[in-house]
Amino acid sequence: MVRHRPGRRIGIFGGTFDPPHIGHLVAAVDAQQALALDVVLLVVAGEPWQKAGTREISAAEDRLAMVRAAVADTPGLEVSAIEMERPGPSYTADTLVALLAAEPDAELFLILGNDAAAGFESWERHEEVASLAALVVVDRPGSPTPVDGVRRWTRVETLELEISSTEIRERVASGRSIRYLVPPGAAAVLRERDLYR
Ligand code: ATP
Ligand code: MG
Repeated sequence: MVRHRPGRRIGIFGGTFDPPHIGHLVAAVDAQQALALDVVLLVVAGEPWQKAGTREISAAEDRLAMVRAAVADTPGLEVSAIEMERPGPSYTADTLVALLAAEPDAELFLILGNDAAAGFESWERHEEVASLAALVVVDRPGSPTPVDGVRRWTRVETLELEISSTEIRERVASGRSIRYLVPPGAAAVLRERDLYR
């Protein structure tokens, strides 16, 4: 008899990561542990269509290099460039479809901060997204909790770290330290490439 091996439990944590910071990493690790995920993929957005036009976004290659350095060899975390390899705007629906095509038995968990979760209904093909992955929310300070009668959100408890990429960019621009807020490897890449000055 062929014994069925259950597929991997894969978390998908997408972001612009401009730059990555400890808020992203703590949330990813907490979700990985709480949901017993085999891996959490930090998916670097190629073309973050919801942010386009609002500010200048660093090159995807620079953001990818920083996320790679930030994650380094953290067990359970991996970096994915899947959305950078695809031309055009980065839609999560396409990403989930591609992941399932590569690994049909996988169980997908889409992890969002509550600010991102609050805007979920505005996403391209969000019904499809909700049908392909379990929806997971982590709380950030200062953002409204998603009020959503339709969806079932799995809530993961994490530290509410009041830190954002916006804060990091502002600190760098004004010459303030980002030590302990961005992992040293990622901070080194940021400095080498002279970002946010
Ligand atoms: P920006 O200030 O440029 O918007 P950001 O810090 O919000 O950057 P994003 O790349 O926009 O980072 O976010 C990627 C994902 O990480 C989103 O789901 C967001 O809600 C989540 N996230 C970001 N910061 C935190 C944090 N401190 N705690 C928990 N989740 C976070
Ligand atoms: Mg954000």
